[in-house]
Amino acid sequence: MTDRTATVSRSVSTSLARPHPIHGTVPAERAEVDRAAKRQANTEWARRARLKKWFGVAEALTHCPANLARGKPCRAELQNRKVDGVTVPFCPQCDRKRRGICMDCQRAPVEGTPGKALRCLMCHKIARSETGRRFAKKHPARVRQKWRARKKRLLEAPGVWEARLERSRLWRLAHPKAVAASKVAWGQSEAARAYQRDYRARMAEKRREAERERDRARARGDVITHPCTSCQTALVGRQKKCAACRTQAVRTARAALIGAAA
Ligand SMILES: [Zn+2]
Ligand SMILES: [Zn+2]
Ligand SMILES: [Zn+2]
Repeated sequence: MTDRTATVSRSVSTSLARPHPIHGTVPAERAEVDRAAKRQANTEWARRARLKKWFGVAEALTHCPANLARGKPCRAELQNRKVDGVTVPFCPQCDRKRRGICMDCQRAPVEGTPGKALRCLMCHKIARSETGRRFAKKHPARVRQKWRARKKRLLEAPGVWEARLERSRLWRLAHPKAVAASKVAWGQSEAARAYQRDYRARMAEKRREAERERDRARARGDVITHPCTSCQTALVGRQKKCAACRTQAVRTARAALIGAAA
């Protein structure tokens, strides 16, 4: 298309350079007007040719074959529209793109250049976060790798990590409600449940290991002692306090209860 236009305009300019055998030399301003008109006609012709080709393809289709962006076909359902008494296929989505209206909410003006940008600011944010989530689901290792590299960079830069920690500490001080809400959300999340399951399993394993260790010591004939939490007397077994301290604790508790009742 561009080649053809280029050849035409070149041939026009060479013909204008030589005097015509009958009409002689065309005045400069006249030549300028002719050239502009010719260029306009070429542009129109190219546009009609493009549309003809596009309609030819689109007529056979039910969905729009145009590209909204690179590697992103439109695929919207085609409608019909009458132009100068001729019914032609019409893509509402491409029309919205041309007019600079968001393709998702179909209402707000796009963020960016009309005719190029596809979404308004909010829909763009939503679409981007969805894209990110889909990518993270598909390539978790790559996302982890990316985060690791980023954190490494941060840790290597002097003072940057500390500044981040300080900033987030100040943010938490300034937004207690948001912090509380995020804690609630975390407590209800599947990740928290998984962490709690894992934590209980780890602790149980630790207790079992300690128990096994005690059994081994008993088998060797060692007497394992631990101090009473009140008087530090050496104790054997599972008890936390010696008998005397235990009795004393019960007495104190009873006296406190009776005193409170009286
Ligand atoms: Zn379209
Ligand atoms: Zn929108
Ligand atoms: Zn004691």
